[in-house]
Amino acid sequence: MAAIAENLQLVRARIARFPRVKLLAVSKSQDVERVRAAHDAGQNAFGENYVQEAVQKMQLLPKLEWHLIGPLQSNKTRIAAERFDWVHTVASEKVARRLSEQRPAELAPLNVLIQVNVSAEGTKSGLAPAQVEALAQAVSAMPRLRLRGLMAIPAPGADRSAYRQMKQIYDSLQSRFAFDTLSMGMSDDLDLALEEGATMVRVGTAIFGARKKQKDAA
Ligand SMILES: *Cc1c(COP(=O)(O)O)cnc(C)c1O
Repeated sequence: MAAIAENLQLVRARIARFPRVKLLAVSKSQDVERVRAAHDAGQNAFGENYVQEAVQKMQLLPKLEWHLIGPLQSNKTRIAAERFDWVHTVASEKVARRLSEQRPAELAPLNVLIQVNVSAEGTKSGLAPAQVEALAQAVSAMPRLRLRGLMAIPAPGADRSAYRQMKQIYDSLQSRFAFDTLSMGMSDDLDLALEEGATMVRVGTAIFGARKKQKDAA
């Protein structure tokens, strides 16, 4: 557990030369004790890929800030809307509309990011760049959502141009939609993403060490 606090310090030091960058600790497949260790070391925001797994941790650690960063199927939107603070993977109007309708009235609007598929060879999740503006328009009119910006998972080994393209799309929409968040960068591409303008990075392995084998998607 001591390693988690040390790793966090190292990651924070890498981020520190870029102002106003937020660190998300990706805790998928890590047990609650390891999440707690990171929290004890000052980390408050956590990213999870699977709704079911995240909800189990939330029951034990309710006060933390929880971000859903895995693909969201439309039959899981209700739990996401009720339990998470942020959803990074909105890529369709249908999912956005369900999240808005299902966000409980007593909670603040759900923070959302639109996931963009910048390097087409990589993940198949996310929206083509040409479709982002129309979805941003629709999402920004949904009463129970707060559109904060964009998210991307460039393919492993993607070159700098993928990150630049993402930043360009972000900049082109930033003032119109009052974006403040560009979520990109993981353990292996952290420095590159920061250099190219990420404002939120999602780091798992560099904080918690290698993951156990993935569970099935929830
Ligand atoms: C797992 C995951 C991360 C963290 O990846 P690491 O390589 O462990 O830092 C970040 N973002 C998303 C969307 C992920 O699925």
